[in-house]
Amino acid sequence: MTGPVLNHLGETWLQLGPARSAGRDKTWRAARDDRDVLWLALDVPETGVNTISRDVLEGLDQQLDTIAQTPPKAVVIRSAKTGGFAAGADIGMFRELHDPGDVESMLTRGHAVLDRLEALDCPTVCVVHGQALGGGFEIALACDWIIAVDGASFGFPEVNLGLHPGLGGTFRLPDRIDPVEAMTHMLTGKTAHTDKARSLGIADTVVEERHVEAAIRAAIAGELKQEGPSLTDRAMSLSTARSYAARKMRAKAQDRAPEAHYPAPYALINLWQTHGDDKKAMQRGEITSFAELVTSETSRNLVRVFFLQQALKEDSHGKDSIARVHVLGAGTMGGEIAAWCALKGKNVTLSDPDTEALGHTIRRAAAICREQHLSGTETRDALDRLMPDPGQLGVPKADLIIEAAPEDAEIKGKIYAEVEPKMKSTATLATNTSSLSVTALSEGLKRPKRFAGLHFFNPVSKMQLVEVVNHEGTYATVTDQLAAFCGTIGRLPARVRDYPGYLVNRALTPYLLEAIQLIEEGHDKQVIDSAAERFGMPMGPVELADQVGLDICLHVGESLSAGLDKPMPDIPDWLGEMVENGNTGKKSGQGFYEWKDGKAQKGDAPDTSDTGDITDRLMLPMLDACVECLRQDVARDMDQVDGAMIFATGFAPFRGGPMHYAKWRGPDEIVARLEELADAHGARFRPDPHWKDLP
Ligand code: NAD
Repeated sequence: MTGPVLNHLGETWLQLGPARSAGRDKTWRAARDDRDVLWLALDVPETGVNTISRDVLEGLDQQLDTIAQTPPKAVVIRSAKTGGFAAGADIGMFRELHDPGDVESMLTRGHAVLDRLEALDCPTVCVVHGQALGGGFEIALACDWIIAVDGASFGFPEVNLGLHPGLGGTFRLPDRIDPVEAMTHMLTGKTAHTDKARSLGIADTVVEERHVEAAIRAAIAGELKQEGPSLTDRAMSLSTARSYAARKMRAKAQDRAPEAHYPAPYALINLWQTHGDDKKAMQRGEITSFAELVTSETSRNLVRVFFLQQALKEDSHGKDSIARVHVLGAGTMGGEIAAWCALKGKNVTLSDPDTEALGHTIRRAAAICREQHLSGTETRDALDRLMPDPGQLGVPKADLIIEAAPEDAEIKGKIYAEVEPKMKSTATLATNTSSLSVTALSEGLKRPKRFAGLHFFNPVSKMQLVEVVNHEGTYATVTDQLAAFCGTIGRLPARVRDYPGYLVNRALTPYLLEAIQLIEEGHDKQVIDSAAERFGMPMGPVELADQVGLDICLHVGESLSAGLDKPMPDIPDWLGEMVENGNTGKKSGQGFYEWKDGKAQKGDAPDTSDTGDITDRLMLPMLDACVECLRQDVARDMDQVDGAMIFATGFAPFRGGPMHYAKWRGPDEIVARLEELADAHGARFRPDPHWKDLP
């Protein structure tokens, strides 16, 4: 072989001269140049993204054997994938891990490989472009030098799977950077983007691709500057300082999630507090702790959530034929939908009779670009694609028109009558309505078959799910098109059929209304919220009702109560009065809670030692509504329900979704409990007949 085998890594590689020897295992490609530098390119076959698996580590071990036989002058590690360095562990592998003992043996072998890499006599350089996550980041950390190509990012997302790093990250990152910063990154799963990575000291330098070669030469020559141990590094070698820092970390972790639900952060803090000054002990502790976590119920459920997400993503595969979008209504939802679509590459026009709303959208779009870490050029391009269009000039050119006007069938009907004649005959009209019948809205249209619901959740830039709602006449090609569109704008489509509340609001509404009923009965709102939070909901129902807006809750509640056979909790008159008085929740500053700076003002933590029936009264009707949706063919199957509820409402991910929780607790037990609640509190708790048919 004459040239480097690393074909598309750019001229950097070619300039270093032809390879003298080359080798290839399944995952690594190797080439030695005429300066005796060994280049190792990670190139996991049959995938566009490298993941770190047993094969990758065994392959690296083989390369290290060769290195031991004929030591090179230096080793440079890079990814051969254009998209990035490595996306972390092969998560599919976690599903096969059942026995902590087997996991420990496997990890011990993996650690030995990275220890060998770290111990090489020659300089080792890792060049990272795109993402280096989890195991990928851990390979980089075992090298002497890390060069980040502009745009690179580094992170340990393991905590999202109920884990902490398991291939040496827990001791190599705190060894490389400020240990408290290192812990924060591992505890939150936060990613360090280019500049942050440099300032933290994760990357020794950040360069543009064309300067990578010079940076490698400088690293090999030992000319790159590396920070020595900081004051914090030295302080944290003392166990008293670590104990103090660990206490603060535990308190923060507690704010995010309790140990009973998410043990991983606490396991990591304990590990660091106990062994933070002893790398070898930390390594042994990491292996044991990871093995326990990865085989725990929490982690198994979180891995399940990862695959539920993949399944929803798969539903969006197909050709996205939508280039131009027009959004009608620049309010809370329309503004964000328009901004998000522009961010994701669509050409968007946006109309609203209120021109101030259009201006607000542009400001909001700029803020979302910042939140999403877009570069200056990317932000400029995104904002260029977003055009305020009060005259609706974009409508005739749009492939998709998304209506996000006020929740009023009459207003929406008028808008359609005006807009539909201006649309291309091949364009799709979609509504973001959250509670109106898509079937009823389609009735006055000339082309009802090209009409569907496209139900985004609030806030659009954070909530991943979008319900694609078809009525009976909607063309399948239209729902396919909308699902593919969701995929290209980075959203997860859940295809559901028209039904009161569709899937998500059908299931969520009883949860919100039951909370209001509990308040009516005299229960403390904070006790109600904390019962739901202790179950694992990201936010209690009272706070959520305030956040959604009490006017919207009232509207959705009334609409569902009218549209369903099953009774809903009664809506007390005072809720309507609160709305009439303008106490609509977060947006007005006053609802059930007072809201300041976007936060509900809560009093001291209430006594929640005895919440009685509250948790079951809130959660079981949600589960029951999911079962009803399955019976009514609103949703396709239990996995789709679980994925949709997690990605639209944040339903306790560590429980694996409402249906997974129901299976775990036992359908018979749930039915019996619902019967008990129905006897005590009313027919709204009577279990759905479909419980007995569940697989
Ligand atoms: P909003 O009141 O914040 O915004 C509605 C916007 O529509 C306003 O800016 C208004 O000026 C504009 N508008 C009024 N008449 C119009 C017309 N003829 N043409 C174009 N625009 C017009 O409401 P929102 O919360 O953004 O809700 C919009 C839709 O999204 C509703 O159907 C609602 O049910 C649905 N939705 C809301 C949420 C939520 O949490 N707010 C979540 C999901 C879905």
